[in-house]
Amino acid sequence: MTETNSAGQHICRNCGIVCVEEVAGWSHPEPWRSLKAGWICERPEPLRAATPQESRRGAMRQVRRDRWMRQEQLQPLVVVEGSPVEVAIVGCYQLHPTAHEHPRGWGYLADDGHYGFGATTTRRRFDGQGELAAEARALFWALLRLLPAHQVTVVTDYPEIADMVNAWRRGDLTAAPPGYDLSDRPSGREAKLMYLAPRVHQHAERVTVRVADSYEDTTLGRAANELSVLGWKWCAGELTKTTAADRALVIASKALGVAPTLVPRMNGTEDRDGPHDD
Ligand SMILES: [Zn+2]
Repeated sequence: MTETNSAGQHICRNCGIVCVEEVAGWSHPEPWRSLKAGWICERPEPLRAATPQESRRGAMRQVRRDRWMRQEQLQPLVVVEGSPVEVAIVGCYQLHPTAHEHPRGWGYLADDGHYGFGATTTRRRFDGQGELAAEARALFWALLRLLPAHQVTVVTDYPEIADMVNAWRRGDLTAAPPGYDLSDRPSGREAKLMYLAPRVHQHAERVTVRVADSYEDTTLGRAANELSVLGWKWCAGELTKTTAADRALVIASKALGVAPTLVPRMNGTEDRDGPHDD
């Protein structure tokens, strides 16, 4: 259950910034009115009560983290901005034998040492597109991390992923896997792929997709697959967070042939302000 703040602060439907009800109607209070002036709306409308974390930040996060996820970068491979980077993305989906929610693991590994893994879940017992959905999640987190800083080549074994990214590049911003819900989430956030699409379009010349016959064809692909399995097992309760993180570091550093030294984390506080978005 999402905790709400006690000051009556709400999240604005139009701009995602905190708003409050005053005698004359809803308004964006200071200090946020000044601090976030570049993208605050004129006529706030309350969408929902703000969580305590959102009250402190003055706004909701545009992108909510997955309940299970970790992103890192290996220090020895850091490259300058604008460098070409290749990243393999893999999704792992299989029904969990006992749970009602079935993990969709995702993983990515880039040759500049960026890697990530995690999982979301589905309650649906049968889901033919589950692995594609998981792979799309890997794409989302990888591109969010790598664009627009780098010239990115995404390697996938799903032609559907290449078609979707190429559609976004051309300006078809509603391209998504079959069955994907394009509408805004109850939190007021955009669906993740709909958030990513205009960013890919804006940096279309910085993204290309290469379709491989199998993730097994490349070192990056094999490691990304192992990372996606880690995400699945962590979500399924078969691994602890610490064990998953330790194993991921071994997988990534071995695949790339460097010492297991991480770039110090900047995102020390993880977003825990409520249920995750799908
Ligand atoms: Zn607003």
